[in-house]
Amino acid sequence: MRSTSRTLIEATCPDCRGPLTLIRTEGLIEIRCLVGHLYTPAGLLQTHSETQERAIWAAVLALEEAAVMVEALADFVSPEALTSLRLQAVKKAGQAARLREVVQELEPFRMEELVRPTS
Ligand SMILES: [Zn+2]
Repeated sequence: MRSTSRTLIEATCPDCRGPLTLIRTEGLIEIRCLVGHLYTPAGLLQTHSETQERAIWAAVLALEEAAVMVEALADFVSPEALTSLRLQAVKKAGQAARLREVVQELEPFRMEELVRPTS
């Protein structure tokens, strides 16, 4: 009979954000989420790296869209409010620019250094 242990990982699936469980069956390790996404340790790290990049790009887009939204709604706010909103949008554009620098510096996990054979 094969011995299997399961350990909840306090992080979420990079594909669906569901809870992850590390499943150890004798010498084999796999990580599975609640809906069934299945990873090897190296595959999880690689997919998580891709998720990090996508998440930052989504934040860049959301921050950059702030100025577009302010202008789209300009006719519906007072001139004072519009001035304030435009200043806030400029600040958000600056934050987006900083995140663009972050995402360009991102490096994926280097698997050869992080994944060891299981015992
Ligand atoms: Zn999943």
